[in-house]
Parts: sequence; C-alpha cells; structure tokens
Amino acid sequence: MKKQVYLQKSVLHGNQAWAEQNRKLFQKHSVLTVNLISSPGAGKTTLLERTIKDLKKYLRVGVIEGDVATTLDAEKIAAQGVKTVQINTHGACHLDAKMISKIVENIQLSELDLLVIENVGNLVCPAEFDLGENLRVALLSTAEGEDKVLKYPSVFERADVVILNKIDLLPYVAFNLKRFAQEIKKVNPNIPIFQLSAMNGEGMVQWITWLLNECEKQKQKTESD
Ligand code: MG
Ligand code: ZN
Repeated sequence: MKKQVYLQKSVLHGNQAWAEQNRKLFQKHSVLTVNLISSPGAGKTTLLERTIKDLKKYLRVGVIEGDVATTLDAEKIAAQGVKTVQINTHGACHLDAKMISKIVENIQLSELDLLVIENVGNLVCPAEFDLGENLRVALLSTAEGEDKVLKYPSVFERADVVILNKIDLLPYVAFNLKRFAQEIKKVNPNIPIFQLSAMNGEGMVQWITWLLNECEKQKQKTESD
C-alpha cells in the first residue's frame, strides 16, 4: 500500500513538470487552453461541436480528442473544419501532460487562439492530472444526478467553471438544481456555473460569451509579459 502511494506521488510529480512546460508553451503562443472533463455520455463532444460552431467566426480553434479507443469523436469535431488531433490512450482512463506535450508537436500553436482538450470520459483521475491547461471545465449532465458532485468532489473542486448540460431533460429526470448549486458551492464557492443544452442551444450564449472573454484575458496576459 505504502509503495503504491509513493509511486502515485512520483507519477504526479513527473506529470507536473510536463504540465508546466506545456503551460509555458501555450502562453508563449497566447493560446487559451481548456481541459474538458466529464463522465462518459455527459455530452463533451456535443458541447464542443456547438461551441466551435458558435466560436469559429471569432476565434481560431484547435481540439485534442482523448479517447480510450476509436476516432469517432475526432471525426465529428474535424467535420466542423477545425484542426483536430486524436490521442488514443489504449486503455488508460485519463490524459497526462506528457501525452499532450507529444501531440502538440503536430499542432501549429501560433495559428490558434483556443485549444480545447477533450479528456477521456471519467470523473476520477483526470482531476489529478494537470495537463498545463489554463482553464478546467467540469461538465455534468442532468441525466447523471446532482449527487455526482458529492461522489466525485475533486473534479468540481479543481475546476474553473462548471457546466450543467442537458437542461432540456430536466422535466424528465430527478435532478435537484438547488441541491446541485449548494453542493458545488461547498467545494468551490466562487465558481461560475452555466446551465445549458448543447443539444438545442439553450443557455449557450452565456457560456460562449464567458469563453470569449477568457480568451481575451489570456491575450492581454501574454502581451503584458
Ligand atoms: Mg466525446
Ligand atoms: Zn485514469
């Protein structure tokens, strides 16, 4: 048991060095990088498709698709006409910073304003691995239930923004919005929460506006350095 703890510590320590290197690289090219985390089926890819559709007239967007297997999601995103690269983890249940460091060699960062990393669908270990991102998005869908915040607190604690997806399903599922907001507040008191439906577009404008503003902030940060 002790040995396992030591091993995990050193893995995370090694990851942090890669993450810092990635962050410097993103900063140098003034690219805002977003790490999108959720369980499988919460709607990461659908959210991403619609976000790109709304954003691509303002920003140059690139996407790294993380999946255990297949290129299905990457194909959907590439169909939006944005630069998309795939990481297949072949069993690993999260992305790490070294994988990102390797894959960004295939991306012209100077040609991007926003880079979104769609993590492997999993609410557990992606929370532990800093990829060098600027912003971490925790996505939950109403179909999963608000108790996921209590069960997987790390993801929500370490996020910069929370998105509740599939609000179009609220009349059909037992999702307690009030309790959801309360539980998020407990682990991350000042975090912005966006409620939306990536399927029908409801609530998307608030999220898009926020993201555009964050990209602008990142640009200013780079210029003042
Ligand atoms: Mg996906
Ligand atoms: Zn994992």
